[in-house]
Amino acid sequence: MEELTAHIYASRVPAKTLPPYSATRCYWIGSAEAILLVDTGDGGEAGRAVLERDWEALGRPPLVGIVVTHYHLDHRGGAAWASGRWHAPVYLHPLDRARFAEGEGLAWEAPPASLTVGEVEVTLFHAPGHTPGQVNVWVPDDRVLLAGDNVLGNSTVVIHPPDGDLGQYLVTLERLSALKPDIIGPGHGDLVRNAATYLHYYLDHRRERNRQILALLDDGPKSAEELARIIYRNVLPAEHMALGVAMVEGHLAWCQALGWVAPDGERYRRV
Ligand SMILES: [Zn+2]
Repeated sequence: MEELTAHIYASRVPAKTLPPYSATRCYWIGSAEAILLVDTGDGGEAGRAVLERDWEALGRPPLVGIVVTHYHLDHRGGAAWASGRWHAPVYLHPLDRARFAEGEGLAWEAPPASLTVGEVEVTLFHAPGHTPGQVNVWVPDDRVLLAGDNVLGNSTVVIHPPDGDLGQYLVTLERLSALKPDIIGPGHGDLVRNAATYLHYYLDHRRERNRQILALLDDGPKSAEELARIIYRNVLPAEHMALGVAMVEGHLAWCQALGWVAPDGERYRRV
């Protein structure tokens, strides 16, 4: 367990659905009197054991709630277990709740705008992009942002329809940047302690990629695959090109929503 501030701790929760290096980051906010859990891993045995061990180390505090940042299994999969284990309500945004059928025996309450956890004020806000109902957590007194999978500790984020929406994601990144966090707790990877620089890099990287795609389309219509092969030819090995295509499709969806490009058969052209 890593300490972010006197009130916030990070667990590294291995998930049976993920490779070992990308364990889910789960967070504890509060003190020995009351605590809030943010994300739950995928519910695998090893992940549950880590949460149990870290909760013990925190002094077995009563849980006031469990925030699930988004519906993906590596974040929500342990929610039913954690809710039963610690008798706490589970918060998930309705737009993400709508993306899976079975309720898994949980009420899945809509996240309130703020929660008081002992002496700590916690703000929850809708931060769509990676998923439509992504919820991010802001602790103003500590200037800590828990960004779910809107920020990853060691890489940029794949924004891919139908879950991802690049236009929304860029607006969210601007909002996260405006909070001026000191530390970002990502959904996976290392804690981000140079938050301003990191978010600036994220935004710059996306804007630059967008300019590159528009410039390529100025030379003539191209498909997402053709664009990805040009953009990522020296970056991605062929077996990972699907990832590049997914990134390009995210940009194209955003450009299309803004009226900058239009589909042209299998390809896209500049408008
Ligand atoms: Zn994740």
